[in-house]
Amino acid sequence: MMTALILICLTVLPASGSAAVLDELSSEDIFKGRMALYKKTEAVTGIPWFDLAGIDSYERGLRRARNDLPDEEGFIGIFFSPEKWTGAENPDKEDTNPLSISLFNGMGLDGDGDGLADQNNDEDVLFTFASFLASYGTDNDNIRIGLWNYYQRDKAVELITGHSKIYRHFGTLDLRKRMFPLPLQYNYSYQSTWGHSRGWGGRRMHEGTDLFAGYGTPVRSTTYGIVELKGWNKFGGWRIGIRDTNNVYHYYAHLTGFEKGVERGTIVEPGTVVGYVGSSGYGKPGTQGKFPPHLHYGMYKDNGYFEWSFDPFPSLRAWERLERQARRK
Ligand SMILES: [Zn+2]
Repeated sequence: MMTALILICLTVLPASGSAAVLDELSSEDIFKGRMALYKKTEAVTGIPWFDLAGIDSYERGLRRARNDLPDEEGFIGIFFSPEKWTGAENPDKEDTNPLSISLFNGMGLDGDGDGLADQNNDEDVLFTFASFLASYGTDNDNIRIGLWNYYQRDKAVELITGHSKIYRHFGTLDLRKRMFPLPLQYNYSYQSTWGHSRGWGGRRMHEGTDLFAGYGTPVRSTTYGIVELKGWNKFGGWRIGIRDTNNVYHYYAHLTGFEKGVERGTIVEPGTVVGYVGSSGYGKPGTQGKFPPHLHYGMYKDNGYFEWSFDPFPSLRAWERLERQARRK
């Protein structure tokens, strides 16, 4: 009787998940489902769960940033093109037979032991990617080599490795929390200025929002992330770049200085002070005071080929409001 019940439950909640099923799940349940898949695949292939999480979140980010890739339907965001999965010469682009797939040099493998290598099955997809990596070795260096051979893109390896470190550090997939970059009790003001031709410290047009505040106002990371860049830039002055696991790069410019201990590779969380508001930039290293002190905050997304800026203003407004609400409680 119990066995029958368990079987029914398994049938109702397919491992592969479908869009309809996912829609009814809470974020917590989705994180739980994902983590279970990572851990199971780690046990079978030796590729650590946080590396699988790093790859998965990188690919999920690409899917959301691009419209030539289908939205994921299950827990797992990793995407194999039908050509890659079934083999370039395979006439059956939906082939699920592991034997014929292998004959056509497709990558698809059967991960859940049902005899099918199904490109729409989460366990099969994750197992296939993990097995490819494991063929290089399961230690850090070999995983990097495997990733490079798969993506042929240094940036992909860097982003995935960064994501993995973040997941490993926090030990959870739930990294949704966000914070406003300036402490709310300080005086500050900002307006929607993204895309304006005039501004200080954007890369080309004004790629960000300027938050005016006094010298020395703490600048906090808005997200969980890893410090990817720190140093001087002619326009941005002292600036820092933080990459989150949600395919967003956060850029903080014109700082008067950095917080001690914040270096390239440092893992941060929402609220971690990374530097202080200043007016650095527009000259040789150390130049200050060519404009009023403010934080230039930019947000960028990657689509697998290049990065582009999007307007941070709506996010800033939302984070500010959420934080105010949380403080009132
Ligand atoms: Zn600016």
